[in-house]
Amino acid sequence: MSDKSTTTVKCPTCETDVVWQPESEFRPFCSKRCQLIDLGEWANESNRIPESPSASSMSESEIDQIERLLEARQQDYFN
Ligand SMILES: [Zn+2]
Repeated sequence: MSDKSTTTVKCPTCETDVVWQPESEFRPFCSKRCQLIDLGEWANESNRIPESPSASSMSESEIDQIERLLEARQQDYFN
C-alpha cells in the first residue's frame, strides 16, 4: 500500500516544505516560531499597534496573548 500521497505545503514564513498531516501541528507553518511570526504580523495589522514589534523582540506576555488568538483561529479552521 504505497499509493498514499503525501501533501506538502510551503511554510508561509520561511518556505520550508511542511508535510500536511495531523502530526504537523503548526501547519502550514514549519514551526511554532514561524506561526507566531505570521500571526504577530496579522495581529499587528488587526490591532493597529502604533509600534512595530518584531518577532525577535516579542515578550513572553505577547507570545502568550498570540497563542490565545491562535487557538481561536485554529478553531475556525476546524469548524
Ligand atoms: Zn517556517
